[in-house]
Amino acid sequence: MATTVKRLAILGSTGSIGRQTLEVVRALPDRFQVVGLAAGNNIKALAEQVKEFKPRFVNYITDAKNPDDIPLCAFLPVEDIAHHRDVDIVVIATSGTGGLKAALAAAKAGKTIALANKESLVAAGEILINEVKKGGARILPVDSEHSAIWQCLHGEKQSARRIILTASGGPFCHYTRAKLEKVTVEQALAHPSWKMGRKVTIDSATLMNKGLEIIEAHWLFGVPVDDISVIIHPQSIIHSMVEFADGSVKAQLSYPDMRLPIQYALTYPDRLVNTTLPVLDLKKIGSLTFEPPDTKKFPCLRLAVEAIKAGGTYPAALCAADEAAVELFLVERIKFMDIPSLIEKTLEQHKNVKHPNLNTIISAGIKSREKAFELSGGSSEC
Ligand code: MG
Repeated sequence: MATTVKRLAILGSTGSIGRQTLEVVRALPDRFQVVGLAAGNNIKALAEQVKEFKPRFVNYITDAKNPDDIPLCAFLPVEDIAHHRDVDIVVIATSGTGGLKAALAAAKAGKTIALANKESLVAAGEILINEVKKGGARILPVDSEHSAIWQCLHGEKQSARRIILTASGGPFCHYTRAKLEKVTVEQALAHPSWKMGRKVTIDSATLMNKGLEIIEAHWLFGVPVDDISVIIHPQSIIHSMVEFADGSVKAQLSYPDMRLPIQYALTYPDRLVNTTLPVLDLKKIGSLTFEPPDTKKFPCLRLAVEAIKAGGTYPAALCAADEAAVELFLVERIKFMDIPSLIEKTLEQHKNVKHPNLNTIISAGIKSREKAFELSGGSSEC
């Protein structure tokens, strides 16, 4: 059987998801051709990727040093890479709200979007989903929980009665409030089960990541927020579950390794052998445990649910306030437990705009970010 080669653009190629996407490409070289790569300012890593994968287009932050290191490639704006006619799948693996414009460009051009960037759906879910429908595009989830839900829904005629998102609980699941007050950056970056980028690792430790994932699931699967629940599952083997009308629950299991949900989005509807991926051995794992999340110790979960219920520009303000708070924590300007309180104070001052357009969403994010920096008592940027 002849196989078709899928042409990929990877936005955020030097980040954690971008690098793991390229690992999948490396393991299945006959299936993919990398035609576009976009990175931030890690020019050295990008230059190595260009040498190995020979894309036709690149993008990087233009004031970065030594762009001459990137040979024989056309420099294109990320939006132009995302909607280029020679691209079949756009992997959006940028961190934060930076992926939104590229996601919209890909949606308008009817592309298949392998979406790892949850912030674009959180901040502008309604607009992005409408553009996907209008443009004849589709979003295939890369986030492990959403990939699990998507896989559980395959073959079902009826929609889900309930979505159960699993959360590892992060490194501080059983910490007391007093102990949480003293958490260091190093401790917060040491996730017990997943290997991820810095922003999402801190979001996992505060449970904001799970809050953003509730919003992401709401937009991706059209399920009301009240029908999405969260359960702490420290082993990170069950990546999420779906409950149907008859009470039956389906789950998807694997080791916590992002290469699997990435590969599934890229090869869908095929499932391909990849010998570099680990094979699940439940005998070694022994037991799978579950417990409810503690929203008193981890208020970010509550803040995210409140933001999506309030709607309008609240989710965009939430994303931007969280990005600012995480940056401030990473440079030790605020403490770990200041992250939720700074986000909450920022949101208390947010003036909501109902049914915002894209510009209103972007400007709500900018204002929220500025407000968070102002409330932290410091200068406007780290
Ligand atoms: Mg996730």
